[in-house]
Amino acid sequence: MGRKFYITTPIYYVNDIPHIGHAYTTIAADVMARYRRLTGYDVFFLTGTDEHGQKVEKSALSQGLKPKELADRVVVRFKELWEKLNISNSDFIRTSEPRHYTAVQDIFKKALENGDIYLGEYEDWYCTPCESFWTEMQLVDGLCPDCRRPVEKLKEESYFFRLSKYQDRLLRYYEENPDFIMPETRRNEIVSFVSEGLKDLSVSRTSFSWGIPVPVNQSHVIYVWFDALTNYITGVGYPDNREMFERYWPADVHLIGKDILRFHTVYWPAFLMSAGIEPPRRVFAHGWWTVEGQKMSKSLGNVVDPYEVTDKYGVDQFRYFLLREVPFGLDGDFSHAAMVHRVNSDLANDYGNLLNRTLNMVRRYLGGRSPSKGTFSDRERRLIGDIKQATADLEERMERLEFHRALETIWGVINAANKYLDDTAPWTLAKDPSAKGRLETVLYSVLETLRISTIFVYPFMPGSAERIWEILGLGKDLGEKRIPEDVEFGLYPEGVNLPERAIVFPRIE
Ligand SMILES: [Zn+2]
Repeated sequence: MGRKFYITTPIYYVNDIPHIGHAYTTIAADVMARYRRLTGYDVFFLTGTDEHGQKVEKSALSQGLKPKELADRVVVRFKELWEKLNISNSDFIRTSEPRHYTAVQDIFKKALENGDIYLGEYEDWYCTPCESFWTEMQLVDGLCPDCRRPVEKLKEESYFFRLSKYQDRLLRYYEENPDFIMPETRRNEIVSFVSEGLKDLSVSRTSFSWGIPVPVNQSHVIYVWFDALTNYITGVGYPDNREMFERYWPADVHLIGKDILRFHTVYWPAFLMSAGIEPPRRVFAHGWWTVEGQKMSKSLGNVVDPYEVTDKYGVDQFRYFLLREVPFGLDGDFSHAAMVHRVNSDLANDYGNLLNRTLNMVRRYLGGRSPSKGTFSDRERRLIGDIKQATADLEERMERLEFHRALETIWGVINAANKYLDDTAPWTLAKDPSAKGRLETVLYSVLETLRISTIFVYPFMPGSAERIWEILGLGKDLGEKRIPEDVEFGLYPEGVNLPERAIVFPRIE
């Protein structure tokens, strides 16, 4: 077995309807997982759903369902979307599964045995009709955010995690692992937050029951983060499958939205340290999407539905747009004009047109059969050098999750091939019978560049890349190709029959 790579998305709350934000994280994780498989890693890619808590319990009750029955219904919405978006996750974890109960209770017990969990009193704003605690931040004009009735300060018994004890160890961990929190602005944010001191964390509730019971006290359920974050170790076999756990843990990347950064970079490593488990290697927080320049919200009615967008533009077009349009880590804006522009200029014009003009020339000048490579000149050697450089650049940029720059690199190769055609002008060579060998070498080189580009493109747009691979007469095994072995220049087979044209990325008017 080769090197391993373990990547996760957050688990999504079953009370939510999947939107562009969920799709964004999951697509990014999928691209990274596919790229790592392509580069020879043994990849484990985990996504799933967060199913416990008061909100789910209440909304189940109002529909006359048990919480688990409600979760069973809505989890389908996520699973179907991931199928539609061509997500290649290795497993799908649900926090209501028995394996997760085992893991959470195990890690909770370890923290308890280490003296990091103690019984205390939790005090916050309480809404009696809603039976809910709210933090100061959650109140709206001092009222309950759900029903807008007055709230009162109330205490309940709660277990606490001694987060305060981990301040120094966390700061040391950030310092010794400068790439643990990415991008760097986020890292600075967390370092200064932790430097100001940490308060102990309430990790259980008695006011609702839909959750994992505290192992030593069944009247408490384990509260939110201790439950949810633990999914990342449950998913790779903790605690019972030692072999799997030792193979894949620590996670190489937790991909998250910036709103849950603190939980992943402060609470999570502290819980793990307490249980004697190594923290994850990296947490990468991406930004948020606005829509046509406005904040996305239910009341504005502008929530981007991934089903609608992909029906309109195509799954791969959507995947490409999300990762090309905005540097990963910054906020971005989704607009239909920008989407159409990307599809037409990058996909239809650059990539699609390179494929079509090449097929067309191979048909007209060579009867539709792929030629032999002949003898390379300095001009081909320059193209080969560009591709070699791009292979190295791609690795460097993907390693840092710079998806937009990785795509720039790939498009650099596509545009180098377009430029190469303009420079070598096969349409002129075709008029000169003595230039037949040169013509063949030129068309061979473009076909070969298309073949290599299609391997590069595969993690981002797997469906379209597979189609192009077949159009290029290369079969159905694109998913088994490897970088760098299969991006060596000169592997394109001779004598393949090629079609006259193929529209993979239609222009949008
Ligand atoms: Zn209320």
